[in-house]
Amino acid sequence: MSLVGLTELVDYSKKNCVGIGMFNIVNLEFATAMYEACIETGLPIMLGVPERFLNYYDIDVVAAICKEYVKRTDIPMALHLDHGKSFDGVMKALRAGFSSVMFDGSALSYEENLETTAQVVRISHAMGVSVEAELGYVGQAGDELSEKTLTNPDTAADFEKQTGIDALAIAIGNQHGQYKGIPKLDFNRLKEIRAKVDCGLVLHGGSGIAPEDFVEAIRCGINKINIYTAMDVAAKEYNRDHFNDFDHYLDYTNIGFKDAVKQVIKDHMILFASAGKDK
Ligand SMILES: [Zn+2]
Repeated sequence: MSLVGLTELVDYSKKNCVGIGMFNIVNLEFATAMYEACIETGLPIMLGVPERFLNYYDIDVVAAICKEYVKRTDIPMALHLDHGKSFDGVMKALRAGFSSVMFDGSALSYEENLETTAQVVRISHAMGVSVEAELGYVGQAGDELSEKTLTNPDTAADFEKQTGIDALAIAIGNQHGQYKGIPKLDFNRLKEIRAKVDCGLVLHGGSGIAPEDFVEAIRCGINKINIYTAMDVAAKEYNRDHFNDFDHYLDYTNIGFKDAVKQVIKDHMILFASAGKDK
């Protein structure tokens, strides 16, 4: 199969009331873990490449690895640029053949975010690529939550109308990184946004949200969920536990490392797919 876009996966999510997991690729073991999780669960997946990671690996190389995995299965897989912070970064992802891009203008003023997102949408759509934007500010765990950082439903509706985006990352109490305690999501705000916005809705900062809250969030209208921290924690824990094994060649521990990451991915994919059952 070839890569699918975010739009197809959002449609699939809406039709089946399931969440689509997006997982960030740190290295080859992470990409392999994602491919194997996809095969073993039979569920669609989004392979995420944050623009920040392009400081240490090449975009064309990671795209080639992902496309090679995609060729080997009929299960829908998307290759997604996560948190593209610059117009140029998004253009590079388009050139590398990504099927989905995020332009994150959440640090910009509303007008600047709107203007650049609209430009990105125009170019990406002309190339058949779907676009995710961010409105509100998801930020990092521990940042203060306020009306200013949370996504306003009316503003989200205006932003969608003016930009033509395919998906919107929203801030409803979710944050990146490791939460202190269980985060409280604002489901009423989510329902209000869902009622006013047609495009896909994305929950960033998924790691650490309670399983029942994930299911509730999907049932209230979330379509895509980003996971990174939970994989990062599992990978580091595995390396800590097997530190002495590194006296041996590194490749001996790489299978266990990959499997630890894969387990986190599978657990999340299966949970996100369960939202449509017994509703
Ligand atoms: Zn994020």
